[in-house]
Amino acid sequence: MNPLVAVAGALVAATALPYLAYLALYALVSPSGSPADKREAEPTVSIVLPTYNESGIIEQKLDDIVSLDYPMEKVELVVVDSSDDETPDRIEEFFADREHPDLNLIREQERRGLAPALNDAYAAADNEMVVKTDCDSYVADDALREAAANLADPDVAAVTGQNAEVLGGSEVEAGYRGVQAHIQTLESHLDSTLIFHGPFSAFENDAIVPVDPNSLADDTELALKIRRSGDRVLFDPAVRYKEASHSDFSKRRLQKDRRGMGLIRLLAQHRDALGRYGNYGKLVLPFNWWFMVVSPWLVALDVLAVTAAGIAVAGVAGLAVPAALVGFVWIGQKDLLGPLQALYAVFDSQVSLLHAAVELLRGKGDGTWEVDEELREAFE
Ligand code: GDP
Ligand code: MN
Repeated sequence: MNPLVAVAGALVAATALPYLAYLALYALVSPSGSPADKREAEPTVSIVLPTYNESGIIEQKLDDIVSLDYPMEKVELVVVDSSDDETPDRIEEFFADREHPDLNLIREQERRGLAPALNDAYAAADNEMVVKTDCDSYVADDALREAAANLADPDVAAVTGQNAEVLGGSEVEAGYRGVQAHIQTLESHLDSTLIFHGPFSAFENDAIVPVDPNSLADDTELALKIRRSGDRVLFDPAVRYKEASHSDFSKRRLQKDRRGMGLIRLLAQHRDALGRYGNYGKLVLPFNWWFMVVSPWLVALDVLAVTAAGIAVAGVAGLAVPAALVGFVWIGQKDLLGPLQALYAVFDSQVSLLHAAVELLRGKGDGTWEVDEELREAFE
C-alpha cells in the first residue's frame, strides 16, 4: 500500500475512534431528561440581564420576561447596562408604572466587557435562584419552574437548558444543537455537564462566585467553578429557550469563533481539573478537551492527508477530495444537506474551534464585541 494512504487511513481512524467510543458510551447509558431528583419548588428569583445597545429589541425581551409563568412578586430583574443608546431609558419607561417584578438597573459609565458587568449584576442579585439570560433570546413559559425543580435537588446547584427553536431557521445551528443536547444529557447523567448557555442558565445564589473579568465563556466558567466546589451542574432538555443563529459560513464565524475561543481558554485555565471530581474530570472534561482542543487539528490534518493520499494514488484526480469538501461546505451552509445536516454542523463547529485556537495562539480574544444586528432582526 502507498505509505501516504496508510498514514491518511491511520489519521482518520484516530480521529474517529474517540467519537465511536463516546457513541458506545451513549448507547450503554442511554440517558434521557434530567438526572436530578426534580421536585416542584417556587424560590424567589433574580433574573440577570446584561444589555449593550439593545434598544431595538429590549421591549420584546422585557415583555417575554414579565409574561413568564411565575409569580412576579417573587422575581426581581437585575439589568446591567453598558449601552450608549437609549436602552436604559426604554427599560425605565417599561417599568415606570409596573409594580412587579422589582427592577434593579445598574448603569455602567463605560463598557468594560460582559464578564465584569455580569460580576456586578450577580453581586447585586438578592434572591435564592439567579437566572442569567441574554437579550436576543426568548425563554419558555415554564423555564423558571423547570429550573427551580432541578435546583430543589440538594446535590444540584446549577442548570442550563436547550435551544428548542433556532430563530431565523438555521438548520446548521439546529443540527448542532441536536447533537449537543444528546452530548450534554449524557454528561449530566455521568455527573455534570460542561457548557452553560447564555440564553438560560440558572444558579443557586449561594453557589455563585466571580468569573474572570476577561472571560468569553462566563456562563460555562461559573458552572465549572460550581462543579469544582462540589455541586452538580446539569443540562435539562425540559428547560427551553429560543435563540437566533446564522447558517451562512462566513456569518457564523464571528459569533462561533469567539465562543470557541472562550471555551478553549477556559479549558486550558482549568486543566488541573482533568482526572478529578469523579466522572466530570474522568470522562466529561476529557471528551470536551478531545472535541474542542485536539479534534479540530486532527480534522485539518485528515483533510490534508486524505488529499495527499488521493493525489499520490490518482494524480490530479485526487483533487476531487478537497473539491468534494468544498461542495459539502457550500451545500451545508445553505441548509440543503437533509439528514447529513447534523454532520455538517459538527464539521462547522470544528472549523470554528480550529480558527479560535489559531487566534488564541496569536494573542487575540478580548471581552468586547459588536452586537450582531442581523441576529437582532431574526429576534424581532
Ligand atoms: P452572543 O450571543 O454570544 O453572540 O453574544 P451577544 O452579542 O448576543 O451578547 C450577549 C448578551 O450580552 C446580550 O444581551 C448583549 O446585549 C450583552 N452584552 C454584550 N456585551 C456587553 C457588555 O459589554 N456589557 C453589558 N452589560 N452587556 C453586554
Ligand atoms: Mn446573543
